[in-house]
Amino acid sequence: MKLASGYHIHVAEEFLKRYVGASCALLTTSCTDALEMSAILCDVKPGDEVILPSFTFVSTANAFLLRGATLKFIDIKPDTLNLDEEKLPELITDKTKCIVPVHYAGRLCNMGEINKIAKATDCFVIEDAAQAIGTFCDGKSAGSFGNLSAFSFHETKNINCGEGGALLVNDRRMVERAEIIRDKGTNRSQFNKKLVSKYTWVDIGSSFVPSELNAAMLSEHLKDIDYVNNARLNHCRQYMNNLKELETEGHFRLPQLSQKGLGNGHIFYIILDKSKNRNEFIEFLKGHGIQASFHYVPLHNSPMGEKLGTNNSILEVTEEIAKSIVRLPLYVDLKKFEIDYICDVITQFFHAHTSNVRIA
Ligand SMILES: *Cc1c(COP(=O)(O)O)cnc(C)c1O
Repeated sequence: MKLASGYHIHVAEEFLKRYVGASCALLTTSCTDALEMSAILCDVKPGDEVILPSFTFVSTANAFLLRGATLKFIDIKPDTLNLDEEKLPELITDKTKCIVPVHYAGRLCNMGEINKIAKATDCFVIEDAAQAIGTFCDGKSAGSFGNLSAFSFHETKNINCGEGGALLVNDRRMVERAEIIRDKGTNRSQFNKKLVSKYTWVDIGSSFVPSELNAAMLSEHLKDIDYVNNARLNHCRQYMNNLKELETEGHFRLPQLSQKGLGNGHIFYIILDKSKNRNEFIEFLKGHGIQASFHYVPLHNSPMGEKLGTNNSILEVTEEIAKSIVRLPLYVDLKKFEIDYICDVITQFFHAHTSNVRIA
């Protein structure tokens, strides 16, 4: 069977467009590239300010820094670890061009409030939805709220094709230019639609179109989205039930659930109490064959952040969370008995330590 060139890209894009409910979906080589495209599309330039959390992956920052923007880091909320929208007004100036909410662990930021503030102050909203495929709130998908949004299909995400991403365009005025920027600044997509007789250089752009191979893998994997996210959410629920008692005893805090739920089960984490030694905890788990990890070094504390002098405000919650968060194993094929085992080992750690304290 001979398929039209770009067939698999088209299939995956049609799926994403409908699934998210956007005007347009463009597959990209990564979420990083989708964020870079967003910065170009918003005409971010030197002098512009961009507000983003410091508790995020580096790509959220690099995309705007590459256009010469000044980064303004905003603190996160202790319940969702998403940006604290109440701190937006004090950070917005007449230079603010974009607000970039990151849906941490696949849980939705307070998009209603963020959009309201952005509208009143004439800023673009770009959702970093890298972790949030399949997260819905009141029937609306992550990625459908901002002017633009970026998803990741990197192998570490819920749905993946090795390396890949997508730019979702909700702002119709940006669709045509998005296609041009993705394709090296040419109007090739108009040529493919037979709207022009040959294609040529019309804008800046780069090579952001993924290969058909990656797209073919992605469109297959997208069919499993409900299965994957439900399995991960069930694992999260089991962790929550098993660990409730230890939380009551004050050893750590579990993700706080609103009625909006856990999102898409991308990450399961606990926040250790200040009195606990995270390295000791992680080493203890490792000694029992369990790999636990943590992230992020807040961007403003990273070597690059310090070089840029981005320490624009006190990011109390960010720093506290970065010191005390632990991510527990979470993947589709994790078995019920394995989660029980992990939770038993965690119980052993805290009960041994508590009794030591009592003896002392
Ligand atoms: C994974 C991730 C990215 C980068 O995604 P890539 O597809 O690897 O470029 C960006 N932002 C966040 C929050 C992420 O988790």
